[in-house]
Amino acid sequence: MTKPARNKLVVVVGAGLGGLSAAASLRAEGFEVHVVEKNERIGGKLNYREIDGFGFDLGPSIFTLPQFFRSLWERAGRRMEDYVGLEKVSPHWRNFFEDGLVLDLHEEPDRMKAELAKLPGDPETLWRQFEAFLAYGRAQYDLVDDGYFRKGLDNVWEMLRHYGWRMIFKMDHKHSMAESIANHFEEPHLRSVFEYFIKYVGSSALDAPGYMNLMPLIQFDYGLWYVKGGMYNLARGLGRLLNDLGVEVSLNSEVASIDRSGRSVTGVTLTNGQILPADYVVCNMEVLPAYRRLLDEPPAFLEKLKKFAPACSGIVLHLGTDRVYEQLAHHNFFYSKEQHKHFDTVFKQGKLPEDPTIYLVAPTRTDPSKAPAGHDNLKILPHIPPIDPENPFAHKDYVALKERVLDKLERMGLTDLRKHIVVEDLLTPVDIERMYYSNGGSIYGVVSDWKLNQAFKAPKQSSKYRNLFFTGGSVNPGGGMPMAVLCGQKVCDRIVKREGRGARALLPAP
Ligand SMILES: Cc1cc2nc3c(=O)[nH]c(=O)nc-3n(C[C@H](O)[C@H](O)[C@H](O)COP(=O)(O)OP(=O)(O)OC[C@H]3O[C@@H](n4cnc5c(N)ncnc54)[C@H](O)[C@@H]3O)c2cc1C
Repeated sequence: MTKPARNKLVVVVGAGLGGLSAAASLRAEGFEVHVVEKNERIGGKLNYREIDGFGFDLGPSIFTLPQFFRSLWERAGRRMEDYVGLEKVSPHWRNFFEDGLVLDLHEEPDRMKAELAKLPGDPETLWRQFEAFLAYGRAQYDLVDDGYFRKGLDNVWEMLRHYGWRMIFKMDHKHSMAESIANHFEEPHLRSVFEYFIKYVGSSALDAPGYMNLMPLIQFDYGLWYVKGGMYNLARGLGRLLNDLGVEVSLNSEVASIDRSGRSVTGVTLTNGQILPADYVVCNMEVLPAYRRLLDEPPAFLEKLKKFAPACSGIVLHLGTDRVYEQLAHHNFFYSKEQHKHFDTVFKQGKLPEDPTIYLVAPTRTDPSKAPAGHDNLKILPHIPPIDPENPFAHKDYVALKERVLDKLERMGLTDLRKHIVVEDLLTPVDIERMYYSNGGSIYGVVSDWKLNQAFKAPKQSSKYRNLFFTGGSVNPGGGMPMAVLCGQKVCDRIVKREGRGARALLPAP
């Protein structure tokens, strides 16, 4: 291998998507990079489990914004298509309501228009409202993409410098996401569907700013995708990229501390006592747990970070059934009768919901290899509060919620679901926290809440240690696979800027 031009070593703590993306980007810029991951495989929350012929994706199931993945491969002079295959999912979502209405979301305008005609009201009016809503969402997306995404902006001041006052006021933060949806649609089913796009960042449509209505756009303009062979093949593809670039990856290696000297970090110490010196540490462990556990920061400092509160957690129920529920699409939503009450219960009261909106994935609609023939593979995910350390729920509370969820699904058409279960596997927030060291079992990092944090996540560079950087769902631009992958690339940009523009490394030819 050709010797890298930069004589600097980066240790990346954690092989989640943000860590892998930072590692590949930094290596492509000529840094020596060593990734240390506590688990037995890379991918973090992008994870899988095989049980009796059923292949369960434990984490993400919806792949959006392929451009932010493609740019990672391009940085390394490679083509994503040589590592990861994508296929479109159609319809995008199937939405089930308690009144019996079933409504699909389609990317193709003519099919979407036909779906809207199922709703009460004048179809032409509904279509005009839908188009106006997408146009508004597109304008919000373009604004956010121009600075917050592409320039990797981290706080209000960087935003002001980039956008100026005039542009900032074009971003819809006067209304909540739900208020802006209500300004576009009177039809209650459509309100519920578009509010639930907040699922993509695990927050509440009542507390997130209006510009979060860019999320439907992500899907309607750039598609909703499945990773061929199963979502974990994305982690496998990234693993191959790191290998081709010459990044060292140590599995089953837990970091016990990030070591420091004054305002700098000097490397990390593993739980087995091994010390890994580094010029930079990029931490993919979530920001709050890292400051608490790896840096042992004092309570006054941690208090200042409280605004970066965790996004929601979930119970993740994987079922193998000995029959196929033909009415399901790949991605399905079963709506709460009162979605605002659901948001309030989970995000304000911190309670387990009585009647949650439920997300259900049936991947065999796109990939029959995920269950034996004649069987179904169902992943069921209601959003719930993260763990409150002062007042945690007991395991029996999560099991009681699971039973309420099964009751609702049986009532809404999955007849005799319980009788057909042949494989069952339940993850609770306690498991999610244990597996990935996420804050309170959060599944999307930091909550997007206008009043609490103006929808900002933690900054990429530590405010305390000049050569410590963070990446992943708890860092801007936040949670979800594309954002974590984008974050890693933006962390690299900040480190490169800090280093000055030296010669790029000569990397091994693709
Ligand atoms: C159930 C579920 C469903 C989801 N659905 C979707 C979806 O459909 N679409 C979507 O885009 N996103 C989805 N997400 C969110 C998405 O998975 C995450 O936002 C993203 O994968 C997080 O990446 P990350 O970089 O924050 O790293 P993480 O995945 O949080 O990984 C962090 C890594 O760091 C390791 N680590 C932590 N501490 C240490 C330490 N001290 N030493 C060594 N290693 C350490 C952990 O083991 C882990 O591997 C879902 C998540 C879950 C859990």
